[in-house]
Amino acid sequence: MRKKVVKFGGSSLASAEQFKKVGDIIRSDEGRRYVVPSAPGKRYNDDIKVTDMLYDCYHAAAEGIPVDKKIQRIQARYQEIIDGLNLNLSLDEEFARIKEDFENQKGLDYAASRGEYLNGIIMADYLGYEFVDPANHIFFDENGVLDAERTDKSLADKLEHIERAVIPGFYGSCYDGTIKTFSRGGSDVTGSIVAKAVRADLYENWTDVSGFLVTDPRIVDNPKVISTITYKELRELAYMGATVLHEDAIFPLRQEGIPINIRNTNCPLDKGTMIVESTCNKPKYTITGIAGKKGFASINIEKDMMNAEIGFGRKVLQVFEENGLSFEHVPSGIDTFTVYVHQDEFEDKEQNIIAGLHRAVQPDSIDLESDLALVAVVGRGMRRNRGTAARIFAALAHNHVNVKMIDQGSSELNIIIGVENRDFETAIRSIYDIFVLSQV
Ligand code: ASP
Repeated sequence: MRKKVVKFGGSSLASAEQFKKVGDIIRSDEGRRYVVPSAPGKRYNDDIKVTDMLYDCYHAAAEGIPVDKKIQRIQARYQEIIDGLNLNLSLDEEFARIKEDFENQKGLDYAASRGEYLNGIIMADYLGYEFVDPANHIFFDENGVLDAERTDKSLADKLEHIERAVIPGFYGSCYDGTIKTFSRGGSDVTGSIVAKAVRADLYENWTDVSGFLVTDPRIVDNPKVISTITYKELRELAYMGATVLHEDAIFPLRQEGIPINIRNTNCPLDKGTMIVESTCNKPKYTITGIAGKKGFASINIEKDMMNAEIGFGRKVLQVFEENGLSFEHVPSGIDTFTVYVHQDEFEDKEQNIIAGLHRAVQPDSIDLESDLALVAVVGRGMRRNRGTAARIFAALAHNHVNVKMIDQGSSELNIIIGVENRDFETAIRSIYDIFVLSQV
């Protein structure tokens, strides 16, 4: 029997209705044996996620404000689910303990983790699966970093003899026994840790979109779904701001070659996006995705005969390093060297950096430009296709977008284009139109 780990995000578990959809999905496939739930998320736009209610409640307790009302509101969210599923389950004792622990300030991470913990209890009861508390099997070291080896061994040993289990997402415990969470959205990471531990055939990550989209739906109406994407492509797009999965969820699975399938709880028949190590599955379009970010500044350094000065680049970058600033891109010409940085991080350090550059490399001139955006066009299909760059730039020119910078890595996996902030959306739409809408 295939072994699948299925993780459900907060919106998939926000209400009893959503729980029922999840139950149907799990029961429709025997292989869906290990379930990782998030805490209940938003039921509607202005709703509050249970995790946020827990943080708020804990902060109130820290200030000595009575928290009975807030605890009751959180319990009501769970009770609504229990009643809607007709379960014979009471969380009264759990909530009495939680209230006491909040008043005794047992820790902010402990507080946040209760969202997943309680949802896990309900899910296990609803499915008739065993409940496995990750506090006993997912471990962080003394620096707060996941102890991957110890975790993998402990989880693998535990789950080896359990055919079907619910393991709440988002948390584990520290060396001293206190509860610690991953960063926000961290149930994705739990799912991938569990998938690795049970040597799953597939990690299904169920959310409220039908996969990873070719580009941002706030910029392009109804963008197409990417059917297969490699880990490398995902990393490039995620770095540029496209998110659907917690970044740390990739690493444990990439090591094992376990694929991830992003699925939509509300449209379970959609195939979603497969995230894989590599594939000979040809991408549908030449490009896989387009992502980007606004808010960059460029520092353009000019010096005659710069090309003959060995160590010039190192000295320039050292000035940025000494000011604690990381750089994004460094396009260079014969006598010019440009550094792209995040504008908001740069602004405070601007004058120190200019002075540092004068001291370090005695340039002829330093020009600054702000309000720039970077657009990344990513795709394994670009390697096999001639003329991709030509089509991108023709599309941009046609739509009156001035290109300020071009950077193509030798892997030919992506082309990064610098434009002005105000051209950002037009640039993305033009590239989407030429590659996806015209479907060449
Ligand atoms: N409930 C946590 C959050 O809201 C973790 C998760 O949902 O993955 O960030």
